Amino acid sequence: MLKTYTYSDLSQEDIDKLVARNVDTSNAIQDVVVDIVDNVRLNGDQALKDYTAKFDKVELEKLYLDADDIQELAMTINREQQRALEIAFQNIHKFHSYQLRKERVVETMPGVKCWREIRPIEKVGLYIPGGSAVLPSTLLMLGVPARIAGCKEIVVCSPAQSSGKINGFVAYCLHLLKIEKIYLVGGAQAIASMAFGTETIPKVDKIFGPGNQFVTKAKSLVQSLTNVSIDMPAGPSEVLVLADATANPEYVSADLLAQAEHGTDSQAVLVSDNEELIEQVNSALKEQLAILPRKELASKALENSYAILVSDLTEGMKFSNAYAPEHLIIESNNWEVLSRQILNAGSVFLGHLTPESAGDYASGTNHTLPTSAYARSYSGVSVDSFVKKITFQHINEQGLEQIGSIVEILAELEGLQGHKNAISIRKKIVN
Ligand code: NAD
Repeated sequence: MLKTYTYSDLSQEDIDKLVARNVDTSNAIQDVVVDIVDNVRLNGDQALKDYTAKFDKVELEKLYLDADDIQELAMTINREQQRALEIAFQNIHKFHSYQLRKERVVETMPGVKCWREIRPIEKVGLYIPGGSAVLPSTLLMLGVPARIAGCKEIVVCSPAQSSGKINGFVAYCLHLLKIEKIYLVGGAQAIASMAFGTETIPKVDKIFGPGNQFVTKAKSLVQSLTNVSIDMPAGPSEVLVLADATANPEYVSADLLAQAEHGTDSQAVLVSDNEELIEQVNSALKEQLAILPRKELASKALENSYAILVSDLTEGMKFSNAYAPEHLIIESNNWEVLSRQILNAGSVFLGHLTPESAGDYASGTNHTLPTSAYARSYSGVSVDSFVKKITFQHINEQGLEQIGSIVEILAELEGLQGHKNAISIRKKIVN
């Protein structure tokens, strides 16, 4: 079922090809997104309504739901479902609260004190995907750290569902987060609306959230066109499972399918040193796929997925580091040793009883993560993503004496007399 490659047979070129994903070589996505972004910039709300009619098949009179609408929808889900969202909210809150740490004041020379202080980004825009599946969990993953950071204005966009509204789960998360408005806009047009602002949707300082290739491309584009920044390129989801003979093939198969069911452009990769395990996983995949409600999507994603047979899991980790997976699951009794070899990954799941689903929803870690090998240089979303760390310094008389002549020499050697004077003029007065 999974196409299998033997690592030792692969050339560097083969490996480069295998680890490349979501590359828009024909610029097909780029061309569509450039048009959408331009149209929203020029025509604002009208463009948003037109695209919602075209892509989401909903005619909207009003582009948002307010506090009353949200409250009413939030009460449509049952108590058990509310409770599950509340526990997820609490765990995500607990884990992320520890990320706000005050840093020490450092005295670099006697009388020269330097430190950093945290300030929230004032206006943030959260994109909550809602095309092939509505993801209330993403709202918690973005809303909770935004609230902990203390962001003043939180703008939320998500595509309108066929009802012309959002579902009760998203509404309940808005209620937990005390957010009183949601804009019913999806795709590249939602990203453009938050980057430029429209008659209805406010412009923000930073845009967050995963999405399909249109969303991801739009985020990169608006970042280059405006002064709005983005969290990271978080596109179609992917998992790499590193498994050995100690792994349970049923678990491995379930983990691969949990990823594959996201969408046809998702990718699930199995890396193992055990040929028999790969065979067993393939038969488990067949059985589990047959009863999966989203089997059409998942089987398309599996066509785009593969297995790699390695000589041992250290070699497997070498491939994993080159792939830089968004999610890495290590299903081996040796997970502690192997985890020390990780160089690149978005989020890591260790041992046989730690499925990615736990982190997707409720264990506490964030599920908005870098995809398409961006885990080589980006981290997932955290409270840090919603704040700026501003440096401060204070120099007293003693400090000026210590550092003054050093700065004067350095300014002089760069030919910047004005810089030197800013020190010299103070030294004269102090002396
Ligand atoms: P989405 O909300 O990202 O996209 C839906 C929107 O796409 C629609 O509202 C429409 O405006 C636009 N669209 C659809 N077809 C279009 C077309 N032909 N041209 C232009 N625009 C079009 O929802 P989705 O499609 O379900 O995608 C969600 C994605 O988010 C999945 O790929 C999933 O893997 C990914 N995801 C990633 C992470 C992460 O952390 N990386 C987390 C969760 C989900």
